[in-house]
Amino acid sequence: MGRKAFVFDIAKCSGCYCCQLACKDEHCGNDFTPIAAPQPDIGQFWVKVKEYVKGSAPKVAIHYVPQMCNHCEKCALLAIAKDGDVYRREDGLIIIDAEKARGRKDLAEACPYGAVYWNAELNLAQKCTGCAHLLDNGYKLPRCVEMCGTGALQFGDEDDPEMQDLIEGATVLQPETGLHPRVYYRNIPGKFIAGTVYDPEAKEVIIGARVRAINGGKLYMTNTDEYGDFWFKDLAVGVFDVYVEAKGYKTQVFKGLRTRECVNLGDIALEKE
Ligand code: SF4
Ligand code: SF4
Ligand code: SF4
Repeated sequence: MGRKAFVFDIAKCSGCYCCQLACKDEHCGNDFTPIAAPQPDIGQFWVKVKEYVKGSAPKVAIHYVPQMCNHCEKCALLAIAKDGDVYRREDGLIIIDAEKARGRKDLAEACPYGAVYWNAELNLAQKCTGCAHLLDNGYKLPRCVEMCGTGALQFGDEDDPEMQDLIEGATVLQPETGLHPRVYYRNIPGKFIAGTVYDPEAKEVIIGARVRAINGGKLYMTNTDEYGDFWFKDLAVGVFDVYVEAKGYKTQVFKGLRTRECVNLGDIALEKE
């Protein structure tokens, strides 16, 4: 049996939070011991949709990234498991045994992804189970995946050719942990440089101005649109020089822009020559 994996496509996610709600609906107040004791109503998100806002108004880009237990090949909890209180199923899902793991607070602190929560009331570390209780009863999909209306969240055997196609070119969170996570992310957006070009005398935007961005000999080119706006999207982290040019105007140059964060150059005035 292949290992189960999740693939999340950021480009398809609407940020509806249905996956987060579906997990709550499935697990809050429902006891699937020993696979999963009830998830508390508050304080835990076995899948948590995180919102990322990049840039500054009005040049802003928002994307959403659901995060959950990665069901890693080298789960950090397995390394400290005792008497089967944490185990990997044949299908690869990592389970904290809700009966055997009572009192193991150290399990909640061992995950470098912050995917494990401590339930003081139950004296138990808890996390996403991959909805193993559903899979064991013939269901093909975990609740969060089933509820994703846009197809952003996918689930299946890692070896399945369709999953392989999705996984190719995808990335994992914090690969430096070396734990081999099995939640894969597609289309994580890069950084952007944006701005609006205008003529301060005419008090009008300049349409069709040519904008060049140069990074280490690599050239990116675009033109301002009908609102005078330009965007360079999906840039790598690096240092860029940007040249804003229009016929009859003096060129504006921005040297050494660092794209560790997205860059909004704001309103750029071009003086007449
Ligand atoms: S995300 Fe954390 S708890 Fe889940 S498998 Fe990886 S190390 Fe273990
Ligand atoms: S797989 Fe199940 S337990 Fe895991 S986040 Fe999705 S709904 Fe919650
Ligand atoms: S249900 Fe799907 S579209 Fe909605 S937030 Fe979750 S992954 Fe994104």
